[in-house]
Amino acid sequence: MKLRYSEAFYSVQGEGKFVGVPSVFLRTFGCNFRCMNFGVDKSVGDRWEQHKRGERYNAEVKQLLDKKVHETTEEFEDLPIVHTGCDTYASIYPEFKHFNKLREVDEVVEHLLSLLPEGKWTMDNGQDVHLIMTGGEPLLAWQRLYVDLFEHPRMRDLKNVTFETNTTQHLKDDFVDYLNTQDRFEVTWSCSPKLSVSGEPWETAIKPDVALEYSRVDGSDLYLKFVVADQDDVNEVARAVDAYREGGLECPVYLMPLGGRSEEYSLNVQEVANLCMERGWRFTPRLHISLFGNAWGT
Ligand code: SF4
Repeated sequence: MKLRYSEAFYSVQGEGKFVGVPSVFLRTFGCNFRCMNFGVDKSVGDRWEQHKRGERYNAEVKQLLDKKVHETTEEFEDLPIVHTGCDTYASIYPEFKHFNKLREVDEVVEHLLSLLPEGKWTMDNGQDVHLIMTGGEPLLAWQRLYVDLFEHPRMRDLKNVTFETNTTQHLKDDFVDYLNTQDRFEVTWSCSPKLSVSGEPWETAIKPDVALEYSRVDGSDLYLKFVVADQDDVNEVARAVDAYREGGLECPVYLMPLGGRSEEYSLNVQEVANLCMERGWRFTPRLHISLFGNAWGT
C-alpha cells in the first residue's frame, strides 16, 4: 500500500497545545469535507447556499479550475494560495490529485528524515521533533499504513505524534490495538470539528462518539480546537462543547481566530483571546501565519 500525500515539511507547530515545537508535517491527500465557506463574507448571503445548490467548489477554487490552473501549473508549490474555503484545497480535490506524491512507506520515511536537521527524530540535545499527521483528513484512508510507518526501523526514536483531525472518522480496530500496545511515542488528538462557519452541516461535523473513541486510546491526549470568526461562531462553540461533554468527553478547548490572510488574523486575534479569558477556554494563535504568512510548506 502506498501513501498519497501533498507535502511534507519541517516547521514549528503553529497551533494548539504544542505551539512552537519543531515539527515535521505530513499532509495526506483526501478529505470527507470541503469547508467551502471559511472566510466567505456572511453578509453576502446564506452560508449554506452553495451546499443547497449542490456545488462542490467554492468560488475561488472554481475560478482556478475554470482557468485550468490544475492543468497548467507544474509543481505543487506553485499552486496559488486561496483565501476562502479549505486552505489545503490541493489536498482534498481530485482535480489536484496529480500534484500529490504516491509513495511506499520506505520512501515516505526517507522523505521525512531528509527534512530533519540531524536526520533523526530525537536530537543530540534531547529535544524530539514531533510528527504531525495532517491533511486533508489524515484518518480517512491511511490508518493501516500508519502502523508500517511508525514501526519503520528509522522511526524508532520518534517520541510524539499528533493527528490533526476533523474528528469524524472512526478508528479501525487494528489501528486502535496498535496504538494501545505501543509505548514508544505519545499520541495527541488535535480535534478540530467544523462549525457552520466552514459550511459543513452540524449533523456530519459534530461527532462526540468519535472524539470519545480517540480519547480512549491508552495514554493519548486530546483537545478540541475551534476556528471562530465572530460571536455567532463562539455561541456555536459553546453548543458544540456541551454536545461533546454530554457525550462523555472532558478535555481542554482551544479557540483559534479564522485565518487565511494575515491581516484578517490580526483583526480577530484580541477579540478571540478576550473571549477565551471570559469563558475559560484556551487561546491558540496561528503562529505559522504570523511567522511565515499564508504559504505552502509552513
Ligand atoms: S476538514 Fe480540513 S482538510 Fe477537510 S475540507 Fe475542511 S478544512 Fe479542508
